Amino acid sequence: MSGFPRLYINLSKIKTNALRLLELLSKFEIELVAVTKVTLGDPRVAKALKEVGVQIIGESRIQNVERLISSGVSGPFMMLRIPQPSELDRIVELCDYVLVSELEVVKTIEQLCKEKKRRVKLIYMVDVGDLREGVWYENAVEEVIEAVSICDWAEVCGVGTNLGCYGGVLPSEENMKMLITIRDEVERATKKTLPVVSGGNTSAIKLVEAGRLPHGVNQFRVGEAIYLGTDVTNNREIDWLEKDAFVLEAEVIEVKTKPSVPVGETGFDAFGRKPNFVDRGRRKRAILALGEQDTVPSQLRPLDEKASVIHASSDHTIVDITDVERPIHVGDTVKFRLGYAALLRAMTCPHVEKIYV
Ligand SMILES: *Cc1c(COP(=O)(O)O)cnc(C)c1O
Repeated sequence: MSGFPRLYINLSKIKTNALRLLELLSKFEIELVAVTKVTLGDPRVAKALKEVGVQIIGESRIQNVERLISSGVSGPFMMLRIPQPSELDRIVELCDYVLVSELEVVKTIEQLCKEKKRRVKLIYMVDVGDLREGVWYENAVEEVIEAVSICDWAEVCGVGTNLGCYGGVLPSEENMKMLITIRDEVERATKKTLPVVSGGNTSAIKLVEAGRLPHGVNQFRVGEAIYLGTDVTNNREIDWLEKDAFVLEAEVIEVKTKPSVPVGETGFDAFGRKPNFVDRGRRKRAILALGEQDTVPSQLRPLDEKASVIHASSDHTIVDITDVERPIHVGDTVKFRLGYAALLRAMTCPHVEKIYV
């Protein structure tokens, strides 16, 4: 028997989304790396992705790669997070592609490859403006040339960039062209080919749709669009993708009508936040057995259109159900679509039951 909260994982919708993305990207000769990190490296999800023709699985955690391998999922695997030095040994052992941004790390990888007689491909990350990982674009050519010269067992197979994650910088023709130019200059100087230009994540799909992605960008690493059908960086839903591959369901533990503003002097809530109360009179509220430990309640969207999440603490989420037409009682459940962080936490929380549809 399974309990609540529970997360429904619709594998066929995940497959549909991956397939539609593969179709679009292959038209432009862009390889899709399907990223499983938001699912905690879920083997069933990874198998579903492989079934529709995804080749490379991208992961940010070596523990997730280990979990996938021990569950019978075959690579190639790409390590997306620039590696922790303490994990390099396992990464070189298990991953086929590694994103890197430090020459010291390239040296260690080369050494480990030589010892293990393994060939690992490296994608050197270039920061074209977002201010997360990568060599700053003005210094990139020099540093990537140096990386190429270090490698013998390992191989720098291309350059990549990540956008929309820290600075929220959007992929553009300009910053994508910068990446191609850097690759071309490195090729010229080293007389080696760097076939991969790994241009982006979900936020770059929009450029492809608009026909504005510069020719030469040939790899996308995508998570969010496959699972949620959204593109949070561009603040949009992708209309040709399924939005409800994941649905979270929680049980109601109290239904009461109360004022919308607390009584008494107010300080901060349990998380040090100051909730903003708007006096809307007395409202009917359901408390759910669901909280910050299970998900990110502020990122939940009730499937009951007229319900809204008011606030949450560790274990309680309060939902305004005044305008919901169906009767909701203690023991009933409320369902939600999830934002990226809400999904990440739900997948990661052991108290959230996972149900595969
Ligand atoms: C998480 C991650 C991705 C996937 O990003 P989405 O926005 O989920 O598509 C791609 N590249 C890197 C380096 C990442 O860390």
